[in-house]
Amino acid sequence: MSSRLSSIEVKRRNRINVFNGLLSASTATKPELAGRLGLSIPTVGMICDELMREGLVREAGMQASEGGRRAMRYEPCLDRFRSLGIDITRRHVYMALIDLRGEVIAGERQRFPFEDTEDYRKELSGRVEAFLEKNHTDPGTILGCGVSVAGIVSPQQDRVLYSHVLNVGEETILNHLTAQQLHAPQIRFFNDATAACMAECYSHHAPDSFVFVSLSNSVGGATVINNRILPGKSGREGELGHMLIVPGGRRCYCGKCGHYDPYGNALLLTERADGSMQAFFEKVRAGDSELTQVFEEYLHYLAIMIYNLHIATDLPVVLGGYVGSYLKPYLPRIRELVGEQNIFEEEEEFIFSCEYNVEASAVGAASYFTKTFIESL
Ligand SMILES: [Zn+2]
Repeated sequence: MSSRLSSIEVKRRNRINVFNGLLSASTATKPELAGRLGLSIPTVGMICDELMREGLVREAGMQASEGGRRAMRYEPCLDRFRSLGIDITRRHVYMALIDLRGEVIAGERQRFPFEDTEDYRKELSGRVEAFLEKNHTDPGTILGCGVSVAGIVSPQQDRVLYSHVLNVGEETILNHLTAQQLHAPQIRFFNDATAACMAECYSHHAPDSFVFVSLSNSVGGATVINNRILPGKSGREGELGHMLIVPGGRRCYCGKCGHYDPYGNALLLTERADGSMQAFFEKVRAGDSELTQVFEEYLHYLAIMIYNLHIATDLPVVLGGYVGSYLKPYLPRIRELVGEQNIFEEEEEFIFSCEYNVEASAVGAASYFTKTFIESL
């Protein structure tokens, strides 16, 4: 019995590996895949045929002849299924559609101030429908819809428990959203920082293990070990915005003083530039002395945060959120500031900026369904 079960499990892993092999290679012949995955050519051939019958793999033309036998190339049908992600913020909604490789097919940011009303829920449903239509997406191909919010979600990810930014608790209208209203077979809620971190994990540029700092209108984070986000016991992991860094300091939105959020949120910067992060950094680059000082102070506290995270975990730190994607040119300065504190000689760089920008949380929330689908192949 157990050997039979394990052979089923081996076959399942082989299917996943063949599909992932095609996803990362774009196209491959059966012998190439077999060689890369350490499987026999007949095994790969059988799996490829199965995946073709299921509409997940197709032929991609004959390989150019190099004197020997010509072999058929295969490619994944990236568009067979799509996943939808929606990031709901106080003033905007960001929608993203991703393919089976996790790449963004379409993304759109719309000004749509959040209201905890029935009308908001209906209009959101209409906007999602229009977004799918515009991007020629048959709802029958959607694997699921991930909804990201700046707040705490239930450990089962089926409810929003609390969001300070949206000013809602468990009675929120968001908890009455149905999968059907979002034109998807299933729906799941994600904390926005966790979702942004999931997008980074998917980007293939990120290290296998890292601490993610999400510097958006509120600050959050997550820890990734071997490509998996560490779950807390109650869904409250990575609340980096409430780490104490200046005892008795500025008041945090939670009501306590000296937490990191009032030193690290994105609003500190955008409020100085008519709400635009791009405008803020353009002014800093142009040498605006007042904004340069604001930014230098921002980096000072960020460096304290990074140092504390790194000294506690010995992991790389990835800076994400609205601010993170703008920080690449300033990484040398950040490394210098952190280096002033560091008691260790570092052999490798350990501070990085994120790949994604404002779309990160929506893309990450969508990626859950793509990943889960591939894992269930
Ligand atoms: Zn706080």
